[in-house]
Amino acid sequence: MLSMANTHLYKPNLVIVISGPSGSGKSSVIDALCEADETLQLSVSATTRNPRPGEVDGVNYHFLSKAEFEEHIQQGSFLEWAEYGDNLYGTLKSEIVSAREAGKDTILEIEVEGSLQIREREKDLTPARSLLIFIIPPSFATLEERLRRRQTESEKELKQRLDIAKSEVLQIEHYDYWVSNPEDEVQQAVNQIQAIITAERSRIDDKLIETINPLLNVDCTD
Ligand code: 5GP
Repeated sequence: MLSMANTHLYKPNLVIVISGPSGSGKSSVIDALCEADETLQLSVSATTRNPRPGEVDGVNYHFLSKAEFEEHIQQGSFLEWAEYGDNLYGTLKSEIVSAREAGKDTILEIEVEGSLQIREREKDLTPARSLLIFIIPPSFATLEERLRRRQTESEKELKQRLDIAKSEVLQIEHYDYWVSNPEDEVQQAVNQIQAIITAERSRIDDKLIETINPLLNVDCTD
């Protein structure tokens, strides 16, 4: 008899991109998300920006000099990279490979330009596929207030981040889903993202069809 048992073995491999303006609270949401779901692995990005107080090299970021970052670009080590403010940020291909080898889906917390590169280079992700989620803050006034409260940027950098935020929100059309993140509602945003991921894991894609096709070719007359 025809059995669909093999479909239970099928698990898509996802590269989950989460973007949102600086101050949208995405880091808190992502930390809570990764804590709640051990099948997710956060990619540690490379950057040329200076560490903030409390940030640890290899944990929050791989902090690189500009020369080191450019060397990685030359070597083709990045899946994507972009300039943000006066600094460079990029996702090392090795981060995705390590998550895949651990049987996990990767979470990338990156800005919009890099996310669009991921979408354009979808084939480079094979056998994984991308899922783009955009976190929206309640208002620009809230963004500004959050950025001022954390006191990690100069006035010039803060203004630069608010300008970038406006241009990023205008590019939301390139994303698959949006999630709102009102003040003090981290768990609500986490629940929403978990629901999206659960749905995406059940999306019918080419790999699922490949898994099912041989079963359909079986002679099931007996
Ligand atoms: P921050 O300096 O606040 O840590 O990050 C600034 C911006 O760079 C944020 O929007 C953050 O999501 C983004 N970012 C962090 N890592 C990467 C990365 O690997 N690639 C790209 N394109 N953006 C990144």
